[in-house]
Amino acid sequence: MTPTGAFPPPHALALDLGGRTALVTGAASGIGRACALRLAAAGAKVRAVDRDAEGVESLAEEAAGLTGGIEPHVLDLTDLDAAEHAAAGTDVLVNNAGLQLVRPIEEFPPDVFHTVLTVMLEAPFRLIRGALPHMYGQGWGRIVNVSSVHGLRASPYKSAYVAAKHGLEGLSKTAALEGAPHGVTSNCVNPGYVRTPLVERQLADQAQAHGIPVERVLTEVLLQDSAVKRLVEPEEVAEAVAYLCGPQASFVTGTSLVLDGGWTAH
Ligand code: NAD
Repeated sequence: MTPTGAFPPPHALALDLGGRTALVTGAASGIGRACALRLAAAGAKVRAVDRDAEGVESLAEEAAGLTGGIEPHVLDLTDLDAAEHAAAGTDVLVNNAGLQLVRPIEEFPPDVFHTVLTVMLEAPFRLIRGALPHMYGQGWGRIVNVSSVHGLRASPYKSAYVAAKHGLEGLSKTAALEGAPHGVTSNCVNPGYVRTPLVERQLADQAQAHGIPVERVLTEVLLQDSAVKRLVEPEEVAEAVAYLCGPQASFVTGTSLVLDGGWTAH
């Protein structure tokens, strides 16, 4: 699949989120942006959370013609109280914001480790905490946590990212167990490498960490374990998120929907 710029893409599954609200974190870019557009196209009123003000404002403009709508919400998720507050009243929560640093453990800056854990694990906990009272009150809610193959497997030089994603898997399963009696599902989606700025930014770091030229990173490092030798498109990940929000997935909870081109089949 190649990005068409059209939301939903012509072969997208039917999804009606009319009357629903959704909150997507990290919505200014990459996967979060595709998720926000996909949910708005399904009729949801989407709160697009990101620290990148320009990014969420341009997203809202892009979504002007879609059935639902996108409301930009500028927020740095390291402000955990504000994050919890922002999630109040949402029907669908997509925990997506993330960042990456590729560095051996002995050179990994402790402050960056702390920030990665805060944004990618503690903020999702606080957002879920903020969202649950409304979801429980109405007996319906959907929590989708954008994890990664790195929620299930490790790679060298990604200690903070791998630790945060493994933690997110545990948080998601716990929310699934607690939410089940209240009509709330919680799941992860686990992509391999997706064509986004986050991946583009790590090419140089990966080249340095592995001691190879940057043009060899894609085939020799990123796609080495993927049986399907291409990057996943953000729109494909958004479609998996859409599936988990639909009525056909009401029995799907506490699990991880893996889109990894066969990586974890090894
Ligand atoms: P991206 O860099 O394109 O987008 C991430 C967004 O998160 C950005 O808009 C950024 O501003 C926002 N963000 C980061 N820190 C924030 C903070 N403190 N407060 C608010 N917003 C913040 O990245 P992406 O590739 O779209 O990644 C999205 C998610 O998907 C991440 O959780 C990532 O771990 C996961 N993921 C990505 C890939 C991949 O290959 N790109 C693979 C598997 C999982």
